Amino acid sequence: AASPPAIYLEGLNDEQRRAVEATEGPVLVLAGAGTGKTRVLTTRIAHLIATGKARPFEILSVTFTNKAAREMKERIAALIGEVGEGMPWLGTFHSISAKILRRHAELVDLRSDFTILATDDQLRLLKQILQAEGIDEKRWPPRQLAGLIDSWKNRGLGPDKVPPGEAGAFAHGRGGELYALYQQRLKTLNAADFGDLLLECLRLWRENPDILELYQNRFRYMLVDEYQDTNVAQYLWLRLIAQKRKNLACVGDDDQSIYGWRGAEVDNILRFEHDFPGATVVRLERNYRSTGHILSAASHLIAFNEGRLGKTLHTEDEPGEKVTVTGAWDSGEEARAIGEEIEALQANRHALSQIAVLVRVSAQMREIEDRFVQLGLPYRVIGGPRFFERAEIRDALAYLRCVNSPSDDLAFERIVNTPKRGLGDATLQILHNHARAAQVPLMQATRFLVETDELKAKPRNTLRNLMAAFERWSAMRETMPHHELAEVVLEESGYTDMWQKDKSADAHGRLENLKEFVRSMEEFPDLLSFLEHVSLVMERNEADNEDRVSLMTLHAAKGLEFDTVFLPGWEEGLFPNQRALDESGLSGLEEERRLAHVGLTRARRRAKIFFASNRRIHGMWNATVPSRFVDELPEESVEVTEAQAQFGGGFGGGFGGRPGGSRFDQIESFGSSYETPGWQRAQSRKAAGGFSDAGGGGWRGGGGRSGPTVIEGELVA
Ligand code: ATP
Ligand code: MG
Repeated sequence: AASPPAIYLEGLNDEQRRAVEATEGPVLVLAGAGTGKTRVLTTRIAHLIATGKARPFEILSVTFTNKAAREMKERIAALIGEVGEGMPWLGTFHSISAKILRRHAELVDLRSDFTILATDDQLRLLKQILQAEGIDEKRWPPRQLAGLIDSWKNRGLGPDKVPPGEAGAFAHGRGGELYALYQQRLKTLNAADFGDLLLECLRLWRENPDILELYQNRFRYMLVDEYQDTNVAQYLWLRLIAQKRKNLACVGDDDQSIYGWRGAEVDNILRFEHDFPGATVVRLERNYRSTGHILSAASHLIAFNEGRLGKTLHTEDEPGEKVTVTGAWDSGEEARAIGEEIEALQANRHALSQIAVLVRVSAQMREIEDRFVQLGLPYRVIGGPRFFERAEIRDALAYLRCVNSPSDDLAFERIVNTPKRGLGDATLQILHNHARAAQVPLMQATRFLVETDELKAKPRNTLRNLMAAFERWSAMRETMPHHELAEVVLEESGYTDMWQKDKSADAHGRLENLKEFVRSMEEFPDLLSFLEHVSLVMERNEADNEDRVSLMTLHAAKGLEFDTVFLPGWEEGLFPNQRALDESGLSGLEEERRLAHVGLTRARRRAKIFFASNRRIHGMWNATVPSRFVDELPEESVEVTEAQAQFGGGFGGGFGGRPGGSRFDQIESFGSSYETPGWQRAQSRKAAGGFSDAGGGGWRGGGGRSGPTVIEGELVA
């Protein structure tokens, strides 16, 4: 007789349970949003440990974000209590690869304290290479080269493997050669970019079978969440390490594949069954997350995609509230409407932590953030590179990187004259020349030069002081907690002072950010792990438990769930995003639609879509039309509203039914159509003297509240 199920298995449905208990051999769970895929993985880890099939450190679990890894850790602890013997290896492909590479760095020509390059450092480096090679950066922008190199790396291709046709796409056939030069420079700098983390791990394993075997033996069980978004390099990585034991469980949903632009390949799902024959394939069809209307809206929308593996989803939950679609006059009004709805929810005792605002592009955030600040609504920005990419934070990081690794040239270049120390180009050129000739890092060159006559007295003194300071700071590292050291470095270098003296409007905010930065370091045991964290996640520190609204991009929202989800900016051009359409045509559109599907399926009880008729893009106002995705929602699950009745006027009931055709016919009659994307068309409208800036005038007519009423007037006209 079967023994009663362990407590952590209770509540799983039969299929979920099968996926948990099929511990041996390959397993593929292919299922829609909210069907419990992540829950299956978490339970599976608990099951492996509780039944003694594996000790925690013999389990490797790959999540898509570091946040997801943290959550998984918590959930496992909740299921089976704190586990001894270390935790499973839980993290992203990148963080796990970095961990492995640091242990064997010398085998891939790095030192274990190698730097992980952020995008802007990567671009700076490429720019230097292009300049050195005499290639016109206007014609052949560094960003384009970065994109090419990334795409090669995503496919697991080193410089020697670049297909000749593709190398030819840049600077008259020099793509591959430049890629090789870039890799060389990275090694000299003791640095790796994101793509390298995976690629070098692959190389490590291929060139050192004994080390590969070490990991193949160690990890008895492997699990991968969000499998649909793995790229080829990641797939090869998995295949290598799982080859021996074959206990690999992957869960994914082809309808949520949203990283095609970054090289993810849904085909990996099909490849799985080929490379791991005899895989147990499990399908989950019951959605446990969302109410009926939300699920039906999401399912209806995604059915417009043609490239689907196809699946059914059902819920036993009640229909719940309809999905709302709200039109606003402009993005400012949209932000106000969202703010007000959130305040209303708050007044009804809804937890702010159960509310999320999901945007298509991060530039949409600022207006919403501004509104939250005005209302005093606590919020946090999740997953974006925003915080750590702010200039002052990058400067502070550069100082710490120099303390951490004196060979970090990019960091040194960034801060050597920040704050201004009166070092001119000529001085810096001397440093560079010497470093290049002696093949040593810049700091080492500087240290040498300040003892010679090569530099003029003034810069020599300045640099000598700076070098002495770095020596002092490095020594302090032994005795002082790293966050206190950070404070000392920022003080003594004059960096904090620079912002204190700065009279510009944002200086205060920058000082606040620096404080926040130092605070965030306390969470980490030492400087190296902090720097590692920053370069890997670039996420804002979220240690505090204050109840806050979450603000993030749709891309960052994958795998998460909230009671209420706000989805602003559903306008042609913005969403679907014009760039995705221009670059990838139909497949771009389908990826945008999957993104909309991901957005809707984050909601448990309420999904609230917004669009604005006017939005400022790159500083210019553009007239926009509602997204085609709005029209792809099923009428019976949608309620159309207008922004803020208190403003009066409104769309005059125009949005009510949809007799014959689009419920937004009225808006289209502005002169736009879905065939002519909003942003482009707006240009011509502007050219024709359309409307002026935010302050009023133009379309807004004279005086009074300028909102939807004017639209109405326009419609009547
Ligand atoms: P996504 O594709 O969005 O990542 P998912 O398939 O990973 O979704 P989960 O996040 O694991 O889905 O689960 C969605 C929600 O449903 C969670 O709140 C989870 O706790 C709940 N859930 C999953 N399975 C069950 C179950 N058998 N009984 C009750 N609740 C469940
Ligand atoms: Mg999930």
